[in-house]
Amino acid sequence: MPYNKVIYPFIFICIAALFIFGCTQQQKVQPSEAQTPPQTQSTPQPAQSSPSSTTSVTNNGDSNMQNTQRDAFGYEMDVFQTPSGKNITFHAIKHGSIRVEFDNLEFEIDPVINLNDKKTDYQAFPDADYILVTHEHFDHLDPEAIQALEKQNTEIITNAACAEKLGRGTVMANGDKRVLRENIHLEAVPAYNTTPGREKYHPRGRDNGFILTIDGFRIYIAGDTEDIPEMEGIKNIDVAFLPCNQPFTMTPAQLVHATSMIQPKVVFPYHYGDTSMDELKSLLTNTPSELRIRQYQ
Ligand SMILES: [Zn+2]
Repeated sequence: MPYNKVIYPFIFICIAALFIFGCTQQQKVQPSEAQTPPQTQSTPQPAQSSPSSTTSVTNNGDSNMQNTQRDAFGYEMDVFQTPSGKNITFHAIKHGSIRVEFDNLEFEIDPVINLNDKKTDYQAFPDADYILVTHEHFDHLDPEAIQALEKQNTEIITNAACAEKLGRGTVMANGDKRVLRENIHLEAVPAYNTTPGREKYHPRGRDNGFILTIDGFRIYIAGDTEDIPEMEGIKNIDVAFLPCNQPFTMTPAQLVHATSMIQPKVVFPYHYGDTSMDELKSLLTNTPSELRIRQYQ
C-alpha cells in the first residue's frame, strides 16, 4: 500500500478527533464558569436611618427567639447604639421586668423575683444604680428584689404608693421630669386603663410609665396602660416597651394603635402573659416599627 494513502487519512482522522475532543471539553468548562459570581461588587449596605439608629450589633432584628443573643444568665438581650456610639443593652428578664445596661450603669425596671413559674436570681445580678418601679402591683413591685439589687447609692424612683410601701424612694408623678446624670433624663408619663369597668386596675394619675433618655437614646417603658391619648405626645422613641394582656393592659389591636401613635423604631411587646404574639405579628405588618418579640410573658 502506498505510504500516502495510509498517512493522510490517518492525519485527517487525528485532526478531526482532536477537534471533536476540544469542543466537548469546552462544553464541560462552561458550567463551572457559570458558578463564578457574575460580579465582584459588594452588596450595598442599607443606609442607617438616623444617628441613633436602632440597628442591633448582635442580631439581625429577626423576632425569632432562637436568633437572639443571650447574656451570662441566659436572658435574651438586644444591643443598640446611642447617638454617640455607645452600647446600650436590654435584657429580657420577664413580664414587666427589664434590665438596661449602659456605660457601666445598671438600670432595673420593675424587678420581681418570683412570678408564676419563673424565678430571677437578682442576688447574682450586678447591683443597680437606678431602680424604676411603675406601680405597686405584685408583678411590678417586689421589695425583696429591690433589696437584692440595692447598693449604697442606688436611686429608687417610683410612684407615691410604692414609696410608701417601701419606706424609701424618690417619688415621681405623671409629668415630672428628673435629670439623673448629665446625659440621662427621666420623665414620668401617665399609665392607666380606659376601658369601662377596668379603670379600677390602674386608675388615671396613680401609676407611671417612663421615658428614659440615655445619651440621646429614647426608651419608652409604658407600664400598665391602655392606648391612652397621651401617647400621641410621645415622640422620637427608639425603643418602646408596650404591655399586651387584657384585662389589665392592651389587646393586640390596642397595641397596634399605640404603636401607630408613638411610631417607635422598635417595639418590644412586654407584660404579655398568655396573649398570642402570632396575632400581634399579623396585625403589626403595616407599620414601620420593627417588632421584636422576647420572652416577656
Ligand atoms: Zn398593674
